[in-house]
Amino acid sequence: MTPSRPDLLPHDDLGAAWRKARPRPAGRHLDSAASSRQSSRALEAASHHARHEAELGGYVAAQAAENLLQQGRSVLGGLVGMAAADVAFVESARAALAALLTGWRLPAGSRVACLPGEYAPNIGLLGAYGLRPEPLPVDGGGRADLEGVERLLRTDPPRFVHLDHIPSHRGILQPAAEVAALCRAAGVPLVLDAAQALGHVDTDVGADVVYGTSRKWLAGPRGVGVLVARPAVADQLTPVMPGSGDLPPIRAFESAEGHIAGRIGLIMAVGEHLAAGPDRVRERLAGIGLLTRTVLDGVAGWTVVEPAGEPTAITTLRPPDGVDVAGTRARLLSEHGIVLSAPGPERAPGEMTGPVLRVSPHLDVTAEDLEALAAAL
Ligand SMILES: *Cc1c(COP(=O)(O)O)cnc(C)c1O
Repeated sequence: MTPSRPDLLPHDDLGAAWRKARPRPAGRHLDSAASSRQSSRALEAASHHARHEAELGGYVAAQAAENLLQQGRSVLGGLVGMAAADVAFVESARAALAALLTGWRLPAGSRVACLPGEYAPNIGLLGAYGLRPEPLPVDGGGRADLEGVERLLRTDPPRFVHLDHIPSHRGILQPAAEVAALCRAAGVPLVLDAAQALGHVDTDVGADVVYGTSRKWLAGPRGVGVLVARPAVADQLTPVMPGSGDLPPIRAFESAEGHIAGRIGLIMAVGEHLAAGPDRVRERLAGIGLLTRTVLDGVAGWTVVEPAGEPTAITTLRPPDGVDVAGTRARLLSEHGIVLSAPGPERAPGEMTGPVLRVSPHLDVTAEDLEALAAAL
């Protein structure tokens, strides 16, 4: 059943407020899975701190901002069901995974269960640390198959499970809470890649480690990420340099040199996310996914990969025969001012058979934007 289009988008106030809160876009920005548009307040908070660095000195300014940074650790921890003491700021999602693996020092050859559609840079990192990725059982759409996962954990448990909550190349919401419960019962740690999930869906799912990035759905600055780990895992990590005895262990993994102004921009963005109401944000983003898929499926021979009602705002489109996806992306940008991505199969070689066009609008998208994309295709 396809509801009539205007009924699809709940909470129009969120769309209007999101638009009003940030600089006017130069075109139609449908690319939040790559990098969202920041709000004016987040931009101002970051620039205010950068100015402070010039006035006070970088280290004095960071010290002066420590209360705010700690509040930020607290709200970021809260988004994933953990505490301020479990949070470390890093530079990106990938830097968070590298920090975790650096500290964990697992024996070479340790098995790690991940989705067949695992993000290729994650597979590369696991390999670089001597770990052996193995496929987590999935159904035909690439979604974790809970019976299969339960069986794997019971009969041949890996050292840990690594799950992309929402993959980069496909707008599928993985059953992370269910996988977390199975992992917990089996005593196998769950590491959740929430790069596409923070600010998008509920990330308080009971994982042992959650990591992600600022710039995607939370709409913070680039160059900032977070690593969040429960004490049971954090206590197993050995940092390159010992941490300060009066700080929680995970803080030894917070990069000492970092874009502090960016961390402050992220904290502002998270504050705006909480003020908007995460439940309402999720409902609107899910509605945006449904609207996007309804408007675009079948247009000029492009086909939507995700189920129409998948509760995410990421839609991917397979091209009609003979159509160049990267060329289409470039043409949409140069001729129509439409910003989106065209991930190729190297993004997730275990699952993708060819490139897709990825449409990932944030709260402010309108049906008119999507119709303009359909017309341009
Ligand atoms: C974007 C992304 C990453 C990497 O995030 P960075 O901040 O660029 O390191 C990891 N996993 C998934 C699923 C992503 O979408």
